[in-house]
Amino acid sequence: MRIAVLALQGAFAEHERILSELGISSFEIRQRPDLGRSFDGLIIPGGESTVQGKLLRELTLFLPLRDAIASGLPVFGTCAGLLLLARRIRNDDRAHLATMDITAVRNAYGRQLGSFHTEADFQGIGRIPMTFIRAPYIEEASGDATVLATVNGQIVAARQGNQLVTAFHPELDQDLSVHAYFASMIEKNMKTEWKAASAG
Ligand code: GLN
Repeated sequence: MRIAVLALQGAFAEHERILSELGISSFEIRQRPDLGRSFDGLIIPGGESTVQGKLLRELTLFLPLRDAIASGLPVFGTCAGLLLLARRIRNDDRAHLATMDITAVRNAYGRQLGSFHTEADFQGIGRIPMTFIRAPYIEEASGDATVLATVNGQIVAARQGNQLVTAFHPELDQDLSVHAYFASMIEKNMKTEWKAASAG
């Protein structure tokens, strides 16, 4: 299994560290030719969604990645990555890849509570540490999107098919379980693809 990490801006190196701790190989997507390599999943890191959205478009990565995700490429977006995948951002005119049926609120915790750390339950994993930095939350998950975690009544993790998002940053804690969860999503997807290929 090989995971591509979008490395245009933000906390991509931290994701690479966790993947290597899990023994999963990864490489960085910085430019269009990087898409020529084969990969089984994609991580979109935290950072600034507006900057990453702009760079995705300028570097002509936007359409191929959007199409790959829409066709089932497993993707994991943290924080700004969640905003890039959201169909709607309530307090922003612009949506980006917009492949996931969620409405997100940017910088949703205000200035006072811009950054904080807590622990909460994550469906299918259990209690895990959660670090929030000028984080969004998910106001609404509709369609096939299901809620995986809430903090103070607000949705902070969700999944829709092969798409996984967290408002917090698992790559900034020592706990590897959310990345392991994503790896198991990829594994299942690879098996399904293999089955489809052998059936055809
Ligand atoms: N506030 C950032 C944004 O709007 C997200 C913060 C983060 O990724 N840590 O894109």
